Amino acid sequence: MNSSDCDPVADALCRILGPTRVLTAPEELAVYAYDGTAALKQRPRIVARARTTQEVAAVLKVAREYRAAVVTRGSGTGLSGGSVPVPGAIVLCLVDMDRILEVDLRNLTMRVEAGVVTHQLYEAADAVGLFYPPDPGSMRISTIGGNVAENSGGLRGLKYGVTRDYVIGLEVVLADGTICWLGGKCVKDVAGYNLRDLFIGSEGTLGVITQVMLKLIPRPQARRTVLAVFPKMDAAAEAVSAIIAAKIIPCTLEFLDRRTIHCVEAFAHIGLPLDAEAVLLIETDGHPSAVADEIAQIEHICLAHAATSVKRAADAAEAAQLATARRSAFSALARLKPTTILEDATVPRSELANMIRFIAQTAEKFRLEVATFGHFGDGNLHPTFLTNERDTEEMHRVEAAMSEIFDYAISLGGTITGEHGVGLAKKRFLRRQLGDGSYELLKSIKRALDPEHLLNPGKIFD
Ligand SMILES: Cc1cc2nc3c(=O)[nH]c(=O)nc-3n(C[C@H](O)[C@H](O)[C@H](O)COP(=O)(O)OP(=O)(O)OC[C@H]3O[C@@H](n4cnc5c(N)ncnc54)[C@H](O)[C@@H]3O)c2cc1C
Repeated sequence: MNSSDCDPVADALCRILGPTRVLTAPEELAVYAYDGTAALKQRPRIVARARTTQEVAAVLKVAREYRAAVVTRGSGTGLSGGSVPVPGAIVLCLVDMDRILEVDLRNLTMRVEAGVVTHQLYEAADAVGLFYPPDPGSMRISTIGGNVAENSGGLRGLKYGVTRDYVIGLEVVLADGTICWLGGKCVKDVAGYNLRDLFIGSEGTLGVITQVMLKLIPRPQARRTVLAVFPKMDAAAEAVSAIIAAKIIPCTLEFLDRRTIHCVEAFAHIGLPLDAEAVLLIETDGHPSAVADEIAQIEHICLAHAATSVKRAADAAEAAQLATARRSAFSALARLKPTTILEDATVPRSELANMIRFIAQTAEKFRLEVATFGHFGDGNLHPTFLTNERDTEEMHRVEAAMSEIFDYAISLGGTITGEHGVGLAKKRFLRRQLGDGSYELLKSIKRALDPEHLLNPGKIFD
């Protein structure tokens, strides 16, 4: 912190954290003004970097005393504006809380601080033969605290579920600085309301997550990956339905459309077919004989649904290369235009073909460039608008197209967000999806836990 600063809140925070962990210089604050969401930016008043739960509690008490908003931040990879500061906010950054506290091999659990990077805890589990399945595309950067706050999904969601399915305990600091433990190592525990689940997906609006206890599972013995190429989108969607109908649940069932295939190939150079309308990246894991059987059935089903080729990854390295290419879809698309708006409309799997068709028609209607990829097996699509936020007229068309896409997803029984959260970006659509009763219930929970609206105010709802 600059000695010339004379902000009483910064002074109070310096007494708790010391001057090096309280940032007030404009050039330092600029870095915390945005997250991964396009076209949203707001410089915070102060950044406070906490290292312990007690420091987090003390920061929240200062914020309460001065009635300053607190925006908790992990790595800032969020895609709904959740960690974009509100005006005058303290950004409470938790990336320094990065210790793995315990790996319990008798209970198959792991306890970590909120700032641990997702891939690091995945590797720590892998090192002892265990498996933490949720793998958001951002897992090499995102924190587990951010994953819990967004209830993030990933490429393995179809078989293994999302972050919520692995969180068995949480340490949370409430708006008034109270520290609570919710849940624990018991497989069964029905004492009181399930408050742990209330905080999962709460987007930093109900409390600050400081520690996470995770359930781990045995590492699958075998994995096989195939890349299936389809000349028509509908054929790819039908192949997915047929795989599920055959009672096969692959761990990964990802999809790239033609536009995304071209961008990823130009970015990653792995030989993706440029004449295809869709490719599916499919991975199955488990016991070696079950995997061999499933992968053969998957190949057969894809070919029976007009796939022009189905290529098996020769080894783990080639499989990893394909997965990495899929994970790079967002970055590859982001190279094309100044602004990349990545959405995550999600529908029941049976409606995927309808939804994809509608996205293409809407893009045409509004004269917009849209590439679509996503977690096909979860019905979770990422229609990605390639645009320019400085072109006001085009941004209006993007808004109108997004609104129609969300309305259509809702009409199909879908949701405005499958994994990225509501944040700032989608709050205007939330009431439409939930209806008045559920929407007001959400607000009453917020009022009960944060009556002064200090925690991430203006996110999820106004
Ligand atoms: C290239 C790319 C790929 C992605 N792929 C996926 C994907 O496959 N699946 C998916 O679900 N998401 C994905 N995302 C979105 C994003 O990575 C996730 O939402 C991730 O969980 C955010 O983690 P973070 O540490 O960056 O959190 P941040 O962006 O810093 O914060 C996200 C939200 O959580 C709150 N928060 C953060 N930490 C805490 C805490 N300790 N306590 C309370 N609240 C907190 C913030 O206030 C904010 O509202 C992707 C993003 C990018 C850029």
